[in-house]
Amino acid sequence: EDRIVETEALVGDSWQYSLRPHYFKEYIGQDKVKANLMVFIQAAKERKEALDHVLLYGPPGLGKTTMAGIIANELGVNLRITSGPAIERPGDLAALLTNLQERDLLFIDEIHRLSHSVEEVLYAAMEDYALDIVIGKGPSARSVRIDLPPFTLVGATTQVGRLAPPLRDRFGVICRLEFYKPEDLVLIIKRTAEILDIAVDNQGALEIARRSRGTPRIANRLLKRVRDFAQVSGSHVISDALAASALDRLEVDCCGLDRTDRRVLQVIIEKFSGGPVGLDTIAAAISESVDAVEDVYEPFLMQLGFLNRTPRGRIVTEAAYRHLGLPVPKHEDT
Ligand code: ADP
Repeated sequence: EDRIVETEALVGDSWQYSLRPHYFKEYIGQDKVKANLMVFIQAAKERKEALDHVLLYGPPGLGKTTMAGIIANELGVNLRITSGPAIERPGDLAALLTNLQERDLLFIDEIHRLSHSVEEVLYAAMEDYALDIVIGKGPSARSVRIDLPPFTLVGATTQVGRLAPPLRDRFGVICRLEFYKPEDLVLIIKRTAEILDIAVDNQGALEIARRSRGTPRIANRLLKRVRDFAQVSGSHVISDALAASALDRLEVDCCGLDRTDRRVLQVIIEKFSGGPVGLDTIAAAISESVDAVEDVYEPFLMQLGFLNRTPRGRIVTEAAYRHLGLPVPKHEDT
């Protein structure tokens, strides 16, 4: 079952693509990244050169794909979108690159998932705008070099640590997208509401924003669900009370935690006296994979300050006890 607070795009999320802002002036938040990119884009345009390669990293749903589209629009060039797993062989990459026009932008999502053989070809393409391709097999094999038009690669990743250093070093511009502040999410929610013709007041937007885990993709999803509750209850405007009761019913609490997030904390508290407890043990206790606990549940709980990582395992913090309405134990070593 899909979680309503899932950060990755779900099958039912394709309606959100049409909400993507097209230019910087509509892109809310991420002010530092935006300001820097605007300078680099203007400079590249004035020199009539391709923009340096750009790496965007940060958790899913924060607007990396959106940003790539905006960079292309601001540069006035074509955008090609692909992803690491979709480029299976060097030939696939060659086909993409040889179809680019001068200064076009190639966006590779999940760039940390490129295969080694593709990565090797990409190095020369990024550095020299050239492709080194081996033709033939065995003793008659030879390498040919194909020149490419100058282009811009925009790579996106949720796991910058898994990127091979030689690949990372070939990006001239590296930007980290941050979780959005509630004020920024309010603006995003109001923008989406306007496009979809949903009436929401400021406090209603703020209530949804607070429960959206700093993530526009989740904010848009929650807004759409809350609208259903508003409509069926005959409310014309989404207020904070309405948003709160709708999201309570969807089991998204006031901090954006869902049932599974709370279960992680409860299990550590009830079965392991608040920790420290190992990741494997937590995963087994809630019947989830270790990867899911590490990649999906833990980061958000840590970000909220509800969970700490120590050399001896995970520990639930006092803040988490308070959030769950449980008495804080006396001798907690956090
Ligand atoms: P990512 O590529 O990082 O997973 P996306 O670019 O697909 O994220 O963004 C998810 C959705 O959130 C988009 O469809 C868009 O509607 C919305 N969104 C993201 N960032 C912004 C922003 N800064 N302003 C307005 N909407 C945004």
